[in-house]
Amino acid sequence: MFTKRSLFLYSRNIIEGVVLKIMNGDYEKTRDERLIEKQDYFMSTIVTQKIYGHNSLEAYNNVLVEIQELENLMSFFKDSSDVSILNRMAGKGVVKLSKKTIDVLACAKDHENICRGAFDITIAPIIDLWRRCGRLSKIPGQKEVEETLKCVDCRSLHVDRINNMASLAHEGQLVDLGGIAKGYAADIAVEIYAGMGIKSAIVDLGGNVFCVGNKPDGNPWTVGIQRPYAARGVSIAVLQVTNKTIVTSGDYERFIKVNGKNYHHIIDPRTGYPADSNLESATVICENSMKADILSTAAFVLGLNEGMEVIGKVNDVEAILVTKDKEVFITKGLRDCFHCLDSGNDYKYYIY
Ligand code: AMP
Ligand code: MG
Repeated sequence: MFTKRSLFLYSRNIIEGVVLKIMNGDYEKTRDERLIEKQDYFMSTIVTQKIYGHNSLEAYNNVLVEIQELENLMSFFKDSSDVSILNRMAGKGVVKLSKKTIDVLACAKDHENICRGAFDITIAPIIDLWRRCGRLSKIPGQKEVEETLKCVDCRSLHVDRINNMASLAHEGQLVDLGGIAKGYAADIAVEIYAGMGIKSAIVDLGGNVFCVGNKPDGNPWTVGIQRPYAARGVSIAVLQVTNKTIVTSGDYERFIKVNGKNYHHIIDPRTGYPADSNLESATVICENSMKADILSTAAFVLGLNEGMEVIGKVNDVEAILVTKDKEVFITKGLRDCFHCLDSGNDYKYYIY
């Protein structure tokens, strides 16, 4: 099943199957701008690549191979993944993992304090509990949540970056990289493009969008910010960006429905229940997609004021936070590249 996500490429065509278009006359004739635009399904989401360049097909393929490898390393569900190996060894000892997995675990650790407990990859036992209950169309009991929450503590995840080792201190602990791995994959894709001399591309892993360079005509990329709960592709704003990642977390993206009530997929590690802040979505814009992935999830959990406070403490990070009261707050740095699309209707826009 394809997931619905918060960001889409403005005026993007959804293209099935292999597409290799040779641009003809739209852009400078001197440039060799071969466009490939294709979608695949990895890491439980749609992966869209739109790449310009004489070697765009090769770049597309290289990124795909890499994303496949990352999925194999970081999947919670694959028995042979690094994540499963680490989880199986919880409370039993240290395991050697690939450098890539260590990079992701280490980045999560680096943001432990900044995120004030709102982002915690050891949340997995709770996610698992909600997932199992969801399958039975029920919600977990308070006692079960409290008991399971005892396993959640990112301080007991130890990461040795020098020797590429990691451990979880207590049996029953599990990590889930669902809130960070797509960001990492987007960063790696962009590294591959750069290494191949690609100057103009977009990679979108189900909402973790990274815009490389400008469009071939020299104008910035335009990315729509999804209107929460509206049909996919309806946006409340557009951003014009160059060399930036744009990552959104929202409660409307994935959820289970029990007795007519939605229980969404972003958990507040402090309570063990789906985050119940005053936000409908949190979008983070910066130059590192893994960081943006962490911060968007954390900001969503923390709510408007605390979320903005956290964003304000990290260098070179901008944000768009949409509240349940239909207010859109943007950080100052977005003033010139943000364009509202719903002004005068349901949403009100503010600079925070
Ligand atoms: P995102 O869509 O990036 O906000 O991440 C949501 C995914 O991250 C969920 O599907 C879970 O796999 C995982 N997750 C949920 N809540 C948290 C949390 N508070 N901290 C870290 N990961 C989380
Ligand atoms: Mg995230």
